[in-house]
Amino acid sequence: RQLAELLDLPKDVIEAAIRGARSFRLFAPREFIRRMEPGNVHDPLLRQVLPVDAENDAAEGDAADPLEEAVAEVTPGLLQKYPGRCLLITSGACAVHCRYCFRRHFPYDAVPRSLAAWEPALDEIGANRSLEEVILSGGDPLVWTDAMLAELVERLAAMRHVKRLRIHTRLPIVIPQRTTPQLLETLRGTRLATWLVLHANHAQELDTAVADAAGALVDAGVPLLNQAVLLRGVNDTLAAQEALCRRLVDLRITPYYLHRLDRVRGVGHFAVPEETGRAIVAALRDRLPGYAVPQFVEEVPGALSKQVLA
Ligand SMILES: *Cc1c(COP(=O)(O)O)cnc(C)c1O
Ligand code: SF4
Repeated sequence: RQLAELLDLPKDVIEAAIRGARSFRLFAPREFIRRMEPGNVHDPLLRQVLPVDAENDAAEGDAADPLEEAVAEVTPGLLQKYPGRCLLITSGACAVHCRYCFRRHFPYDAVPRSLAAWEPALDEIGANRSLEEVILSGGDPLVWTDAMLAELVERLAAMRHVKRLRIHTRLPIVIPQRTTPQLLETLRGTRLATWLVLHANHAQELDTAVADAAGALVDAGVPLLNQAVLLRGVNDTLAAQEALCRRLVDLRITPYYLHRLDRVRGVGHFAVPEETGRAIVAALRDRLPGYAVPQFVEEVPGALSKQVLA
């Protein structure tokens, strides 16, 4: 109802949103809502966060854990699917609830909630010398306090075989003020090569506050990548993808992956035919510099990498 008031949305849309939010509640920061166009129920940012009735239709084949992540769990919160790198589900929380989230049914309650609870995972990483890279993912790792993050980074940097730290986060996009001086200091100061992978789906998300946050990160020596998800009614046109890629590289953010939607329960209404994705990416390649074109990928359970579709 607050969102409806802020954006002047019709009553039927709001009633549907209340029904759609039953299994995954609506949650969006005001900084992000401010970039939406009032009165436009088709706004590409609004569509990412607004629950709809279709979420309650369990489409056939849609699973709670489509990527079989339970199989990849080494210790609570520590996943390894690919050689040389592991992923920590650092937190169950996010600053925004994206309706298409593939981890919307993830058993986050089992994720460790304090640094002490992370000891089994840290022991495992310390003992496994094949791990060169640690990915902090989630949820969103930047919901942690700067002090906790600094301590975790220090612990990882003390493991000689760990060379790289990667942070998967949407926070600098949805709340750019999260890019605090202390955070920049931690990232600038570590011996680990640190890469940050953002998540923006539409050029309209990348306003001047986001541009400043991205600039501060790059200036701190942190290369920025972006992953997007191909979503019906949000960014499933050549024009939308082209505008996103151009805006990203103008901000020194390299488009990394364009993900095919993972078919988790309740997200079927965002699905885009694979052929559409292939055609869009092929057309981007004829229009943009090579570094400005993401790889269109899909995750296949059991595979040793994301599978490139285009
Ligand atoms: C996607 C993913 C990665 C990262 O894959 P890259 O191709 O290196 O970006 C790592 N671990 C897990 C569990 C993943 O799902
Ligand atoms: S920010 Fe990422 S993990 Fe969080 S709800 Fe959105 S897609 Fe899911």
